[in-house]
Amino acid sequence: MKDIKSLTIEELRSELSGMGEKPFRAAQIYKWLHVKLVSSFDEMTDLSISLRDKLSREYSITNVRQLDVQISAEDGTRKYLFELGDGNTVESVLMRYHHGNSVCISSQVGCRMGCKFCASTIGGCIRSLEPSEMLDQIYKITLDIGERISNVVIMGMGEPMDNLDNVIKFLNMISDENGLNISQRNLTVSTCGLVPGIRRLADLHLSITLAISLHAGTDEKRKKLMLIAEKYSLDELMDACLYYYGETGRRLTFEYSLISGVNDTPQDADEIASLALKAHAHVNLIPVNPVTETGFMPTSGKGTASFKEALEKRGVNATVRREMGRDIDGACGQLRKRHLN
Ligand code: SAH
Repeated sequence: MKDIKSLTIEELRSELSGMGEKPFRAAQIYKWLHVKLVSSFDEMTDLSISLRDKLSREYSITNVRQLDVQISAEDGTRKYLFELGDGNTVESVLMRYHHGNSVCISSQVGCRMGCKFCASTIGGCIRSLEPSEMLDQIYKITLDIGERISNVVIMGMGEPMDNLDNVIKFLNMISDENGLNISQRNLTVSTCGLVPGIRRLADLHLSITLAISLHAGTDEKRKKLMLIAEKYSLDELMDACLYYYGETGRRLTFEYSLISGVNDTPQDADEIASLALKAHAHVNLIPVNPVTETGFMPTSGKGTASFKEALEKRGVNATVRREMGRDIDGACGQLRKRHLN
């Protein structure tokens, strides 16, 4: 059976005309799936029963199933555990800000990038998610809270550029005016730095934000934290960032997890400032979330503030990310399949 929720409206149109149906049916079905967020063909009440039957013989509707939700007493952040059709599970996080509801979704079950400070990579990558499985994390959260989601970040489990075809389809579908119509400016893809993927994304000229997980200002130091640094040098990464900026006109974000005694010295700040200025990037500082397996500890509040100040002195735009949902382990790098433990 074909996964109907992963079809773009154009693909759906051509499938339906192949079935001898009128093309306008595609818009009706797309709306049921991607705006009204129904989970079965039976709910598509403006289609004839015979068409609903025909559809349910050829297509399946992917629905992720909410197994659990934890709600932060501190800030209302919600961490969801969703089960996929094959029994694998992923987590997604809803963060409520003054400017709207933001959802952090997973793009893979696990991750094979092997960053030393990240909990999501510990068990390796089991598989990549389909576009429908990424969309449905947002759809089920929308239904759960009964409010619109205005921002999406692909910063949960997985490396989006290790699943780029499906991620690109997801970005197009979530921003499609026939679907939830979330502005591309409110979509962020975060990557540990897969250079060919960055270039490919640049060539699509989307208005999304690209975030690069930098975490170190020299190749030597970066290699100690991130396996991907063995494959692509900082020079290659910066060239790709500049290419992205040139093609899209979109400022990049550098994510920088501050780890006490590892990457938080004044010299580190100086190196990061040079890179950020070169790539026209904004720097987002995140005191590392401790992961039991690694022993890394976060830089203190004072250390974080002086790192930020050092960047600003060099003319770099820097922010410290407000950690959300720490009491429910929903903060970044802490997503994991807890129920397996
Ligand atoms: N694979 C993608 C997206 C998922 S990780 C990427 O690497 O960007 C999302 C962000 O959380 C990345 O910047 C990642 O480096 C960061 N991160 C991972 N573990 C963390 C931890 N323990 N503390 C703080 N940030 C962490």
